[in-house]
Amino acid sequence: MTALRIAGGIVYDPANAIDGQVRDVCIQHGRVVDSVPADARVLDAHGMVVMPGGVDIHSHVAGSSVTLARRFSPDEHSDDPASAPELIDPGACGRSGTGGTVPSTFTTGYRYAGLGYTTVFDAAVAPIAARLSHAELDDTPIVDAGFFVLLGNDEFLLQQIAAGESERAREYVAWTLAAAGGYAVKLVNPGGVELWKRGARGPAALDTPVGSASVTPRTIIETLTAASESLGLPHPVHIHCNNLGVAGNAAITLDSMKAVDGRRAHFTHLQFHAYEVTGTGGWCSGARPLIEYINAHEDVTCDVGQVMFGPAMTLTADGPVEYLLHKSTGRKWLNVDIELETGCGIVPYDYRERAAVAALQWVVGLELFLLSTDPWRVLLSTDHPNGGSFMAYPELIRLLMDRTYRDELLRRVNPALLAGSALADGLSREYTLNEIAIITRAGPARVLGLTAKGHLGVGADADVTVYARDADLSRMFATPRYVVKGGVLVVEEGQLRRAPAGLRLHVRPAHDVAIERPLRDYFDRYATVSFGNSPVRSLRDEPQRLRHQR
Ligand SMILES: [Zn+2]
Repeated sequence: MTALRIAGGIVYDPANAIDGQVRDVCIQHGRVVDSVPADARVLDAHGMVVMPGGVDIHSHVAGSSVTLARRFSPDEHSDDPASAPELIDPGACGRSGTGGTVPSTFTTGYRYAGLGYTTVFDAAVAPIAARLSHAELDDTPIVDAGFFVLLGNDEFLLQQIAAGESERAREYVAWTLAAAGGYAVKLVNPGGVELWKRGARGPAALDTPVGSASVTPRTIIETLTAASESLGLPHPVHIHCNNLGVAGNAAITLDSMKAVDGRRAHFTHLQFHAYEVTGTGGWCSGARPLIEYINAHEDVTCDVGQVMFGPAMTLTADGPVEYLLHKSTGRKWLNVDIELETGCGIVPYDYRERAAVAALQWVVGLELFLLSTDPWRVLLSTDHPNGGSFMAYPELIRLLMDRTYRDELLRRVNPALLAGSALADGLSREYTLNEIAIITRAGPARVLGLTAKGHLGVGADADVTVYARDADLSRMFATPRYVVKGGVLVVEEGQLRRAPAGLRLHVRPAHDVAIERPLRDYFDRYATVSFGNSPVRSLRDEPQRLRHQR
């Protein structure tokens, strides 16, 4: 790790109000610094675009559902073999692997870094599977990574809500995050997965009882939003709403936002939750009322979950969604109940331009981006690999920056469900490079509470991406000339050359030890793992700072 001067590039660092100014970025000891010694190595970035490393707020890269999806798609392994990169440090060992929609661990790290992304969060890990996720992240090089812990259908938590024990619920959240080595609280179809496991087959409403009358999607959302806030977690509660992928679901999405009114909350892959229903029961876009609500409410943030045409792998803790997708496509389907914690479903999928629903989904995602008035709160994601691979991010950036290209594609898609769509009516907006830097770096870092990431100010982590300008924007963003991660030059002249281990991003909030006795009883009665053996130990990195201590 040597001192480095990235000289003369056109810098986009929106967190520090730098919008396309020519300047140097200096790096030493893994941090951005004011200046470096005269003999520091110089990377000539004249004419090139310099941004902080990319931060992916919502992806699926490590853990039991991802592992199952890899096993579930052996065809992808032969279709997209990934050869080992030629690493240059003595003794460094590049690993071969497989690609496709769900790449193997090493290949995942290499490919993210190869796009200029240096931080990634897996958005859905069951506490009982946390050990596996850490093991997989240990084998996912370069990127700093963490995960969100699934709690929206957890039986012990639901029991506390049923008993009116919101403080105990909060202590349980604290214990679970520390035991799992997780970073934030994730809700997936709150209450809905538990209802599915009990045999319910219809859509849920926000006040549908889940066993007890006092346990509903609404009370689960309220409890976990309050707990995340009270514990001072750097990232607020991360919510995948009820009724994903169902026509008319925009109503429950809007009601869920109103349910957390005045509190910080992040609504994920909003595109999948933004459909209205026509008078005749058909689908249409529901993007506008949702994005207008977000535009007007500063505490609410979202990532889009854009659908990209091509192969995808839908994998989610939302078991009932996958059942519906399997029934409507006839594609192979896998369903797993993960003890009393959550569910899991997987169905391979293809988004085709000529398919009416896929075309609507593609349009709805773009509408959310293009109607947003605050890029800091409407962030880029494809919910990899659900809406498409993270490898499609450069293409998505081109869609946002190039109206001519976007309109060309719009003319090719199936228009059957696009009546009343804002995009079909014409949206001329084109994202600027500064706005792209916000939705892929500065914004996600801010929403995640990662104060040393997503910017290039003095003291920031030295995660930097340098792109050679190219009229073809998707090629430009797919092939950075240089990528620096934690001060190490990992991509040089467009080739991956080094693959250091990334940091594990996690939190360790304190809990009231009184929670341990009922929890031990619960583990003894119901869990396949003993209470004492449940916590993940020896994470090699220190926990991240909380927003406040209790
Ligand atoms: Zn997801």
